[in-house]
Amino acid sequence: MEKGFKLFLKEALESSPETFEEKRQQLPTTLLFAVLFFLPYYTLILIPNYGIDSIQFKEDLFAGNFVLGGFVLSILFSKKLKKDIVLCLPAFGALFASYHFLTHQEFHTARPYIWVYAQLCTIIFVTTLGTLRWNLILIFLIVTIPTTLSFQYEHIVLKDVIERQAVVYFIGIVIIYYVYRQTVSSKELRQFNEKANLILNSSELGTWQWNLQTNEVIFDKRWKEILGYDEAQIENSYENWEKLVHPEDLDKSKAAFTDYLEGKVPHYEVKFRMKHKDGHWVPIISKGKILEWDQQGNPLFFNGTHFDFSILEKLQADLENEKLKLVHSSKLATLGQMAAGVAHEINNPLAIISNANLLLKRSDKEGTKEKVAQQIDQSVERISKIVNGLRKFTRVSDDFSKQRNNLHTIVSETLELIEFKAKSEFVEIKPHNLQDVDVNCDSMEIQQILVNLINNAIQENAQKTDSWVQVEMKKSDELVEVIIKDSGKGIEDSVIENLFNPFFTTKEVGEGTGLGLSISRSIAEQHGGSLNYELRDGHTAFVLTLPVV
Ligand code: ADP
Repeated sequence: MEKGFKLFLKEALESSPETFEEKRQQLPTTLLFAVLFFLPYYTLILIPNYGIDSIQFKEDLFAGNFVLGGFVLSILFSKKLKKDIVLCLPAFGALFASYHFLTHQEFHTARPYIWVYAQLCTIIFVTTLGTLRWNLILIFLIVTIPTTLSFQYEHIVLKDVIERQAVVYFIGIVIIYYVYRQTVSSKELRQFNEKANLILNSSELGTWQWNLQTNEVIFDKRWKEILGYDEAQIENSYENWEKLVHPEDLDKSKAAFTDYLEGKVPHYEVKFRMKHKDGHWVPIISKGKILEWDQQGNPLFFNGTHFDFSILEKLQADLENEKLKLVHSSKLATLGQMAAGVAHEINNPLAIISNANLLLKRSDKEGTKEKVAQQIDQSVERISKIVNGLRKFTRVSDDFSKQRNNLHTIVSETLELIEFKAKSEFVEIKPHNLQDVDVNCDSMEIQQILVNLINNAIQENAQKTDSWVQVEMKKSDELVEVIIKDSGKGIEDSVIENLFNPFFTTKEVGEGTGLGLSISRSIAEQHGGSLNYELRDGHTAFVLTLPVV
């Protein structure tokens, strides 16, 4: 109780802006009561021998102004002065006013009623600060009822009653205010607890509390769940924690605690493994803080959380999986864009085979058979190259199988795959300075980058006159560049900013996924290289850089 009251005084003196905001919202209601409070003073004018000129009236009016002014000032300045106690001013005012009513003999009969009325208004003032109905009831019980009752006892000198009541009244206000703050605090505390529980539940955190004096510990439900236990299946004890921590991690965990106690680190944070009921090890991140000390400065309670970070590992795996799916869908989209060209390109050798077959059936000339067989072989080879290329291109792999590859071969194979698309869009492909350079890479992944880049260049320049895409290689000591330059005159600044952002596309819905460049860049980086846009010789260019071996 004593501690609570101290807290109350501290709070009253350091009101927070939120509290002020709450009061400000109640301003219209409280002002209304203030006006009501004023009314009796003005009605006094109507009472004979108590007119506008009387000293008594002026004094009462002064008291009223004091109440109203005090109240308004308290509302306006409580934030600035940070003194909520100022809010007691109206109560003092009411007290002052009622005292006046009762000490002036001329106004003997009306005084008690007006006094009670004034007191009621003040009660309402104070209560509106709290807006708690039971505060009102409380003040009725503490102040109004005894005061009113006291009037029943004629033999008690009125002045004495009032003086006594003044003390009661003041204490009443303080109690109300205290109860109000307590209620708000416990409501805030309840809300805070609810929020904290919600956060803890949704964040999968288990909590623990360790009483350092008695060595008692409390593990919450989630703490136990992480290790596969029901609430009742594992006892709350320090020994249990020690038993379940991986023997290799125990010293590290204890050292982290000692470091924290000695002030070497601001928080207790340590990773260790704990044994699950099934027998497997659960990776845990434990964080903690000492929240209470005794008078001598000895730590009392050590509170903290447990987080099972295998959840993160699982999330990471899910994310990788999703990424893989995206890569695949981007490949399929590129494939879809090339489908028409592929069909056309396969039809050509098929037509050759079919013609050759006819020729074979009709001709009996010497040497024709060999020639036709050769044509068929070549066409079949062409078809299988295309089909193989497509099959490899759509392959989904979760890890790169890097090996020494000739970049020239990869580039040539890619050009072959893309050639038909270029032809159908009237874009000339110009290989330039292709050289035999070895790189350590997954050839299919590098091919995917090249297909994306060349495909983009073809799409951007499709159906235009004199459009071309140049594929050039440049080698320095440690790096090799593959430059895909096209007849475009550079990309707009607003597009450049977003080029490598996933899902950024300027293409029609269904035509572009916006994933090509972002995936290509991440593949290049995974190979220790880079992929960048550049304006080269006034033309749009994408430069793929890879380390040579
Ligand atoms: P998508 O091709 O599906 O749109 P990308 O990530 O491959 O996705 O490309 C993103 C955007 O970059 C394209 O929509 C286009 O605006 C721009 N872009 C890419 N390559 C070129 C190029 N050679 N010329 C002009 N703009 C290009």
